[in-house]
Amino acid sequence: MLPTTDRLLLGPGPSPVSKRVLASLTTPMRSHLDPDLLAMMDDMRERLARAFHAPEGSLCFAVSGTGSSGMEAVVANLAGPGKHAVAVVNGYFGDRLASMLSRYGATVTRVDGEWGKAIDPAAVGRAIEAGPCDLVAVVHAETSTGVRNPIEAISRTARANDALTIVDAVTSLGAMPLDLTAAGIDAAYSCSQKGLGAPSGLAPVAFTPRAIERRVPCRSFYFDLGLLEDYWVRRKYHHTISAPLIYALHTALTEVEEEGLKSRWHRHEAVHHGLVEALERLSLSLLPPDADRLWSLNAVRVPDGTDEAAVRKHLLQRHNIEIGAGLGPLAGKIWRIGLMGSGATIENVVRVTQALGDART
Ligand code: PLP
Repeated sequence: MLPTTDRLLLGPGPSPVSKRVLASLTTPMRSHLDPDLLAMMDDMRERLARAFHAPEGSLCFAVSGTGSSGMEAVVANLAGPGKHAVAVVNGYFGDRLASMLSRYGATVTRVDGEWGKAIDPAAVGRAIEAGPCDLVAVVHAETSTGVRNPIEAISRTARANDALTIVDAVTSLGAMPLDLTAAGIDAAYSCSQKGLGAPSGLAPVAFTPRAIERRVPCRSFYFDLGLLEDYWVRRKYHHTISAPLIYALHTALTEVEEEGLKSRWHRHEAVHHGLVEALERLSLSLLPPDADRLWSLNAVRVPDGTDEAAVRKHLLQRHNIEIGAGLGPLAGKIWRIGLMGSGATIENVVRVTQALGDART
């Protein structure tokens, strides 16, 4: 049965979708090679390049699939047998990235860090300098812990040692400052369903000229950059992309530009601080230290003696609000509250903190 009620999505993603994005999903259907759709996809490539602040000559487009397909597309085209990668692992998604690099045949050196703290760039630097190192992979916004990793310092050392930097921007694109050009990032991927405010199903990716130059023969057909470029740029059939998802992401990107990227980042920042203050009034605190926190995803410590699953169930059943649970070693220890895309509003801070207060009384 189709859902008939709204649900306030304040978990780690998907984020709420605006009425305009939702309406775009029901506009007339087009095929994957229709000139109307291709024109929209051309425009989307430019919008994505602006959202990523990708350098001139980059190839930006959206892979059909969720954020993990973006991860796989980047890894499949840059990592392979004979390549040495340094992977930052201080959360669930860093671990996924490291394992994907191994699956594609790279020799991986993990730099493990504490879950809930940003990685020390000096530790990553030491691993890079110990060499050999062709690739450095790091999650910018670690959704499992609410931590922002120092991608700029890491990519500086990578560049100085002639390695490429791959960044997971799944929970940062459209919500947190991200500038591939200024930060010297060579390739990045994201998702449609968080900071950008569209449904899941498309994964924006950016390959800079430096990454394109160093790509490896791709073992995957579906994620082969050359074949995807043939489709997105040269209009050659590769797969049957979903037109409604293109409409939705294009509309979401239009909303991003109407608001302005910087204003959007500031909105996420202000709403994050509003949440922290409201949580303090409930004697609740965040896991990461102040300086390491994401604005898009808040990892809230579950107080001792509180049944965290019962609180989430109360929010869902009584208040129609979804928040997320902890993953891996943080299961049972944190709630994850996402305030992303059109969900990043002070009104939602009030709703979720009132519901949390109600659940605990
Ligand atoms: N990377 C990060 C940082 C994520 O937060 C997620 C999902 O939340 C992923 C990758 C995987 O994205 P998806 O679940 O859309 O495949």
